[in-house]
Amino acid sequence: MKKKLLLIGGGHAHLYLMKKLQEEELDVEVSVISPSEYQFYSGMFSGYIEGLYNFENIRIHIPTLAEKANISFIKGAALSIDAKAKVVLTEKGDIVSYDILSIDIGSYSGGVDVPGVRQHALRIKPTYRIEEVASTMWEAEDPVVIGGGAAGIEMALSLHAKRKAEGKTPVTLVTQSTLLAEEDEKTQAKIEQIAREKGLNVHQNEKVSNVTSLSIVTSNGNQIKYDQLLWLTGPKAPGIFQTSKLPVDDKGYLLVEDTLQVKEYPAIFAAGDCASLRAYPNLPKSGVIAVRQSEVLWNNIKGYIKGEDGIRFQPKGKYLSILSTGNKEGLLLYGKVSLHHHFSWKLKNKIDRRFMDNYQ
Ligand SMILES: Cc1cc2nc3c(=O)[nH]c(=O)nc-3n(C[C@H](O)[C@H](O)[C@H](O)COP(=O)(O)OP(=O)(O)OC[C@H]3O[C@@H](n4cnc5c(N)ncnc54)[C@H](O)[C@@H]3O)c2cc1C
Repeated sequence: MKKKLLLIGGGHAHLYLMKKLQEEELDVEVSVISPSEYQFYSGMFSGYIEGLYNFENIRIHIPTLAEKANISFIKGAALSIDAKAKVVLTEKGDIVSYDILSIDIGSYSGGVDVPGVRQHALRIKPTYRIEEVASTMWEAEDPVVIGGGAAGIEMALSLHAKRKAEGKTPVTLVTQSTLLAEEDEKTQAKIEQIAREKGLNVHQNEKVSNVTSLSIVTSNGNQIKYDQLLWLTGPKAPGIFQTSKLPVDDKGYLLVEDTLQVKEYPAIFAAGDCASLRAYPNLPKSGVIAVRQSEVLWNNIKGYIKGEDGIRFQPKGKYLSILSTGNKEGLLLYGKVSLHHHFSWKLKNKIDRRFMDNYQ
């Protein structure tokens, strides 16, 4: 009987695996579990909320991709993993067995324990919420975005650009620190200047302590009115690893070696946001990393099936990132280089479209 390879989640690395399995057959039965038939590409969410892309541009139909590679598609969310018995329980009550397990389920929305957030704020994760989030924020009277990291800034500026072109009220962005707090001071000053020039209403160093149905209250005692609130304060670990008693880091992400395998259970692999590499605990949670891990994951799963040793994931010193700032402009960041220009957006558009074309 053939061995079973089970993929949980349709994240970046699993898209790559499914594509590779179209080209090269392995001597295993492969299944993929996903709560949605679609995988949404967050790199293009800013362009979607600005109205530059349509819904079809930003999503991939997982069953079609799976069918082409002879992979069975199982609709559902994995709820727990029994690593000793080698079975996965789904929320529908299905029990799916495996010989090799690969997990690429991303991360969930962080910061949602602030009182009122769960009741009143919109969240993008699960990412199939993007359509509802965008249409609600387009129609809002007083739209507020919380979060001054790359995702919050991109979404706020892109939504702002669309609303401005339509003569609607500006967007407000609230953040507990400065904008892009993890970048150097020069980059922080630059994004602040861009936001100011574009007319975004920015509140920095205001930590949200409470959300009511009409306003947010910050730790400085300020009240900021809103009618629609988008919560984008960064990632948090999915709960499945802790409930399954798998080894996790201090934030609850699945701990893996640089071969992307769980040390205690080498038949379990993981990539992308959901995994934390023991050797590189501070890797950013970003799609770029998930994409870079794809090839290692594919190589090492193939090697494991054949009984060979895996190769090691080695992060690069610096990664290219490009933030949409609205009106087809982008802020390109690469090491000490930062460039705010239409060219940067064009490059981002080209990279994102090329990624999506691979899976259509
Ligand atoms: C608004 C926004 C914009 C961003 N823009 C960028 C950008 O431009 N560049 C960049 O590098 N990063 C960007 N990021 C970060 C990026 O989204 C994540 O780092 C990236 O998606 C992680 O990829 P992944 O492969 O780990 O998982 P994901 O792409 O999140 O995919 C995980 C998949 O697993 C599924 N899943 C979840 N739970 C389960 C379960 N229990 N069972 C089965 N399936 C499950 C999900 O539905 C999803 O389809 C952005 C994030 C946001 C919020």
